Amino acid sequence: MTPATATLVSPGRQALDSALLQLDQAADRLHLDDGLRTMLATPRRSLTVSVPVRREDGRMDVVQGFRVQHNTTRGPAKGGIRFHPSTDIHEVTALAMWMTWKCALVGIPYGGAKGGVSVDPATLTTRELERVTRRYVNEILPIIGPDKDIPAPDVGTDEQTMAWIMDTYSVNAGYPVPGVVTGKPTTLGGSLGRAGATSRGVRIATLKAMSGSPEGRTVAVQGFGKVGAPAARYLADAGCRVVGVSDATGAVVNHSGLDVDDLRAWVEETGGVYGYRHADALSHEDLLELDVDVLVPAALEGAITAENASRVRARLIVEGANGPTTPEADRILADAGITVVPDILANAGGVIVSYLEWVQNLQACSWSAKEVDTRLRDLMEESFDAVAAMSAERGLSLRQAAHVIGVGRVAEAHRMRGLYP
Ligand code: GLU
Repeated sequence: MTPATATLVSPGRQALDSALLQLDQAADRLHLDDGLRTMLATPRRSLTVSVPVRREDGRMDVVQGFRVQHNTTRGPAKGGIRFHPSTDIHEVTALAMWMTWKCALVGIPYGGAKGGVSVDPATLTTRELERVTRRYVNEILPIIGPDKDIPAPDVGTDEQTMAWIMDTYSVNAGYPVPGVVTGKPTTLGGSLGRAGATSRGVRIATLKAMSGSPEGRTVAVQGFGKVGAPAARYLADAGCRVVGVSDATGAVVNHSGLDVDDLRAWVEETGGVYGYRHADALSHEDLLELDVDVLVPAALEGAITAENASRVRARLIVEGANGPTTPEADRILADAGITVVPDILANAGGVIVSYLEWVQNLQACSWSAKEVDTRLRDLMEESFDAVAAMSAERGLSLRQAAHVIGVGRVAEAHRMRGLYP
């Protein structure tokens, strides 16, 4: 592909191409027939909506919204909602597909979905954000519900967004429906332990993938946000030395180790890591190329590509984000002997605790933080062991093994259900 044509392919389309290639390779290994392959490559339901939003000055803007239910064979559709200016139907489809394999891989009874609104939340007032959220939910209302499709947070959305979703759905239903969405505030039926769940899962996956003690192992985190910042904290708690982090504002490094809490306080105060006093500045590219034991990409898709993969010096990559490594980069990293713990395993802690939250909502009960954490740990460790065993048995990378297991379970569910009519 020439650079001129490369620019025509949106990051979302690139993510979808990566997801389809991963599916195709898993389907080859599973000897799936063409019909089933097509079924798995195609979303069951895909909705694009226009979301009109009244701005504070009285103007009306219209943004695009999406909800893609990739698969519902193993259970209701499940997956987050992303608010990001560059989100498009292709990206949302790729992310929905990855949710399907992720839920199957960790053995929770869900299909996969994702939602998105092409808006930059930083440019909206809180009231505008609330109006966008409620109107978007109204547009997708017919296809969501606690037995149909259960949204959750993703990039650009949080507990407050989930509270508005729960309220909008409940007002329309005429009674409270906490199980329609996960990642809610605990006052509305959110689960203890959901907030840091993805990051705690990243820690569990990192410690499982490391041979030997975590003490003094160096870590770089790309994306010091909802997943990356708590992951840095948890890895530091485990004994690792977090030496570099980046976010949209910049990147910082301190080879003696960053004080993660102090850095988080700085980010809270100033809006980003840029300018942090107790570290040196470096470029976003250099952060990914630091000589560290572990690199945690925890931002967006396509961070590690054919262009920069050969300069990555980390020994282990643990994907906190969805789709941060392209298939070309995967090959380069594998040739260099770098282990990659893939997204659908490494960041599954979030949807695992979403599932626990939904179960508590359906049973109208609440579990202790300890109970939630034990279940999270058990599911993460069992899933990791299954992937590692498949990888050793069949000589596959951890990503290839994870896809063989995830895609294989969904394919098997299709076979058992049969085709209607
Ligand atoms: N957005 C998260 C993910 O990509 C969580 C999804 C959920 O909890 O449903 O896994």
